[in-house]
Amino acid sequence: MFDELKALGAEAVRAIAQAADAAALEALRTSLMGRKGSLTQALRKTGGLPPELRPQFGALVNQVKAQVEAALDEAKDRLGQGAAASGGALDLSLPGARQRRGRLHPVSQTERLILEVFGRMGFDVRESPEVETDWYCFEALNMPPDHPARDMQDTFYVDRGVVLRTHTSPVQIHVMETTPPPVRVVAPGKTYRRDSDATHTPMFHQVEGLLVDKGVSLAHLKGVLTEFLHQIFDADAPVRFRPSFFPFTEPSAEVDIGCVVCGGKGCRVCSHTGWLEIMGCGMVDPNVFRNVGYDPDEVSGFAFGMGVERIAMLRLGIDDLRMFYENDLRFLRQF
Ligand SMILES: [Zn+2]
Repeated sequence: MFDELKALGAEAVRAIAQAADAAALEALRTSLMGRKGSLTQALRKTGGLPPELRPQFGALVNQVKAQVEAALDEAKDRLGQGAAASGGALDLSLPGARQRRGRLHPVSQTERLILEVFGRMGFDVRESPEVETDWYCFEALNMPPDHPARDMQDTFYVDRGVVLRTHTSPVQIHVMETTPPPVRVVAPGKTYRRDSDATHTPMFHQVEGLLVDKGVSLAHLKGVLTEFLHQIFDADAPVRFRPSFFPFTEPSAEVDIGCVVCGGKGCRVCSHTGWLEIMGCGMVDPNVFRNVGYDPDEVSGFAFGMGVERIAMLRLGIDDLRMFYENDLRFLRQF
């Protein structure tokens, strides 16, 4: 009986190894381990044995069962892999493995668009340091030491007289110090202020612009900026210039465009005014020209500055500035 059982087990393992498909394997499993299977029957014979042989026979039954089960598992893996290898490669209904392509951040996209529009109008691109001395960030721009914009509340100080620039305007000074007029430049870059909420981040991007030549007037300023806004937003949108104040320009103005969301009727985005504030600008203050060695009786010019995030939000319909810096790929992949 012991030999008979061992032979049964060996035969079963051989048959399982030769099983050609899952159906044949399942038939074998039933014929061995099913209710009427040969191994199950063999186990039942234990009761007919003399008591002293029962434990030994039982142990052998378990051993053979384990061998057969291992053989079944192995065969199942073998047949399963074969199915995947032949069937998987040919299954045209499976979704393809998509390669994710990187793309520019919406702020970078917007910055490039702004530079492109001014590039077509003949402006060169200049950059200057993010860490500035007091002279370049404030004093040369006609902001004396007691000016409110220099308040410690707003400015990140690196050291005595050294700051993280609070605006891109220092580039005006660098350009005019090193270049005789005429100049026509735009300067993109990061700026820093101690501020953080839905409409302010401690770091944000600006694009600065400066045009200096003989006989430059407010009409040139209006023409260039109106054309820029029409190209960036909507060629038919109204543009208005509101009197304002900046230390480094005189006269100064805020530039508004008719709300691109509601068409001027009034909505949440434009605070029901029908207008969106886009940038600040003005005619370069004669004091700034004197600080860089230009003669204000010889040349005149205009300067302007705008927030890149602000323009990106309006163009793309984003209502929380912080979305730009949370690096949520579900957000970034939309652009
Ligand atoms: Zn509106």
